[in-house]
Amino acid sequence: MELIDGNQIAATLIAELKADIATIAGRKPCLALVRVGEDPASVSYVRKKEKTAEEIGVTSRIILPPIDISQEELFKLIDSLNADAGVDGILVQSPLPKHIDEVAVFRRVAPEKDVDGFNTINLGKVAQEDDTGFVACTPAGIMELLARSGVDLKGKHVVVLGRSLIVGKPIALLALQKRAGANGTVTICHSGTANLPALTRQADVLVAAIGRPEFVTADMVKPGAVVIDVGINRVPDATKKTGYRLTGDVHFPSVAPLTSKITPVPGGVGPMTVAMLMKNTVKAYRLRR
Ligand code: NDP
Repeated sequence: MELIDGNQIAATLIAELKADIATIAGRKPCLALVRVGEDPASVSYVRKKEKTAEEIGVTSRIILPPIDISQEELFKLIDSLNADAGVDGILVQSPLPKHIDEVAVFRRVAPEKDVDGFNTINLGKVAQEDDTGFVACTPAGIMELLARSGVDLKGKHVVVLGRSLIVGKPIALLALQKRAGANGTVTICHSGTANLPALTRQADVLVAAIGRPEFVTADMVKPGAVVIDVGINRVPDATKKTGYRLTGDVHFPSVAPLTSKITPVPGGVGPMTVAMLMKNTVKAYRLRR
């Protein structure tokens, strides 16, 4: 079993981006990060994004609207960022408060500044295999992890657990693309799937993105499979200072010995998500010049 080290691969990518940004004369790429409310996971994700941006020379602008901001006011804020020539990328941190239609907010972000890749146009471009768009950061990060770990999906059965717009659907579309590194045969499973373990056991590459701690157990995995664990779940743990521990969607201790390669949680897919956000921001900057 080989551990796919997301920290190390992300660090390589970050170093490449830093070197690239250092060659830019004048105004540097600028990323606007919008966080509504004080959800603890969102606070920590936005802080990490801000820190990475600073590290590589991307300017970040943090906007913290109050939790009771109305949908209309949030739209106005996004419109002003869309129109701001000094802003290249816009990220609205998910989840948003319940009174706001999250998908409508994603649609409001101008496609050319949608570095999160959730806008309808950018999701459509993934389906059309049009590289002028932005691919959502987590699925883009998974493809990068696979490529940099020498995993070619051609001829492989890729089983994706989860069909969210943020992870499941776009990773399935990317794995399916007719291009080098992809060309997989894809099955997507969800809460309506019958006999899920029979499907996951067929996977050469299993991507778990369902948000259920340690859901995937050894009996659900084919020996020799590559397992990508996207889940980030906070499980109560009184022995930790924080009162919780982070765990993935895969029961790592029993599954890892069976696999040929596996991502850990933390330190697998998570760091790649931030790195791909930076990559998308630099891409947005260059496309707008
Ligand atoms: P969602 O809750 O949006 O989607 C979960 C999906 O899993 C749904 O399609 C749901 O099915 C399916 N599902 C849930 N329970 C079951 C079950 N028992 N059997 C089969 N399918 C099931 O989650 P996300 O895609 O946003 O996130 C998934 C996980 O990945 C979470 O732990 C999240 O924290 C993590 N994540 C990690 C990121 C990273 O950077 N590493 C980034 C984004 C997310 P249905 O559609 O039928 O409801």
